[in-house]
Amino acid sequence: MSQHSVRVRFAPSPTGPLHLGGIRTALYNYLFAKKHGGTFILRIEDTDQKRFVENSESYILETLKWCHIEPDEGVGYGGDYYPYYQSKRRNIYRMYINELLKKGNAYYAFDTDQDLDDKRKEYHHRGLTFSYNSRIRMDLNNSLTMTKKQLHDKLRFCPYVIRFKIEPGKKLKMYDIIRGNIIVNTDHLDDKILLKSDGEATYHLANTIDDYLMKITHVIRGEEWLPSMSLHILLYRALGWIPPHFAHLPLILRNNGKGKISKRNTDHFNFPIYPIQWKIPKSKIIIPGYRELGYLPEAFVNMLALLGWNPGIEREIFSLQELINLFSLEKITKSGVYFDIKKANWFNKKHLHEKKEEIFAFLLKQIKIRSISCQIDYIWKVIYLTMDRIHFIHEIWEHSFYFFISPSSYDTNFFNKICHENTILQLDKIKILLYNMNQFTSINLKFLFQTIKNKHKIMQLFRLALVGMLKGIDIFIILEMLGKKESIIRIEKLINQVKEKI
Ligand code: GLU
Repeated sequence: MSQHSVRVRFAPSPTGPLHLGGIRTALYNYLFAKKHGGTFILRIEDTDQKRFVENSESYILETLKWCHIEPDEGVGYGGDYYPYYQSKRRNIYRMYINELLKKGNAYYAFDTDQDLDDKRKEYHHRGLTFSYNSRIRMDLNNSLTMTKKQLHDKLRFCPYVIRFKIEPGKKLKMYDIIRGNIIVNTDHLDDKILLKSDGEATYHLANTIDDYLMKITHVIRGEEWLPSMSLHILLYRALGWIPPHFAHLPLILRNNGKGKISKRNTDHFNFPIYPIQWKIPKSKIIIPGYRELGYLPEAFVNMLALLGWNPGIEREIFSLQELINLFSLEKITKSGVYFDIKKANWFNKKHLHEKKEEIFAFLLKQIKIRSISCQIDYIWKVIYLTMDRIHFIHEIWEHSFYFFISPSSYDTNFFNKICHENTILQLDKIKILLYNMNQFTSINLKFLFQTIKNKHKIMQLFRLALVGMLKGIDIFIILEMLGKKESIIRIEKLINQVKEKI
């Protein structure tokens, strides 16, 4: 295959927001297309109007934009293979269904829902499973079991579906890029519906025809479609077409072992499931996505790329371009992959290192809101000192406020514990020590406190006075950053609070 002929598609149905699995499918298609200088297409598979959910399409477009994985062609982007909505391609499907009927690869079926239900029950009673297949179809109400005249009459008055006629007794050999060789005995396949009674093509028919007409070279999609691969390949063959290559992506599993993440199974998660926020159409309730929760698109995409694929090297942090360069379908794992929110947060933390300007802007805003005046250099120093402690930009203030303002309260538990005379004596002593220091640097301070009695306790008191709680970076660096005057003011403040309490 020439380098430039790769054409892949992301083909979501507009039945709600994308979840992690959906956006990962889009990402893998994108990475594969870009790696091979190919085309990434967005097709909206909206044949099932009953499952249509408003705003799904704009949600999909916005998500792809946020992730920086925009299509080259398709809905919202145009292209030569227009229309990219399946609902606008009804005539095309009609044409090919007629061809299948003519060739004898499809047939009309008039069985009502009631008929089929009765059959199902009857089989169930006999301990069998009913399936509309080559063994049973000659006992059912379809064009294979009636004369031309009967069929003609039926077609005028009765609703019908069109089914694909599976040829039994064949061993269908298929190849999936991720799973390798697969052999299916056609005896085990049923005659799937291609055209529904409302005249709409089913997913199977529309999807196959569109992939062929849009010159799709590789079908990269979720594992839930693996069982449909045989039908799709048989459809291609019946229409005299060469099938594309297939790659079925592993499921994303919840790391509590409680099943897969899917569109119909998005409740009760203790981690975000949507890339960007979703407003539930009826209730107007907004469910925040990764974007709203503060994840960087770069981190989100990096995390998602490694959820089922790895380049086989130690490194885990990659830019989108690096992911493109390294991507290959062969390195996608076969088995389900576990989603881990801690790992997602870790990716965000790592990518934050490339976003220092953004952290600065956020912190500056916090400082301005509080009318604090301070030097630009000082803010930068604070960022370098605290950045390693945050996973999200919005966390910077809670991890660095003590460099800008004196604590407004103290850790209650610890404060209660230290409320006695002895604390006042100790604090007074260290206050004098600090006061008499010449060069107020972290190195000098560390040296000074090395020999002191009760070092651990004193350090904790320091921390409480300067930060308000037993958290924060190296205490000697905090002291140096705040300077002698401010440090002593904060120690005095704690002394007064303790005095007040006892
Ligand atoms: N419309 C299908 C879905 O939403 C696409 C399956 C495919 O890619 O073939 O999952």
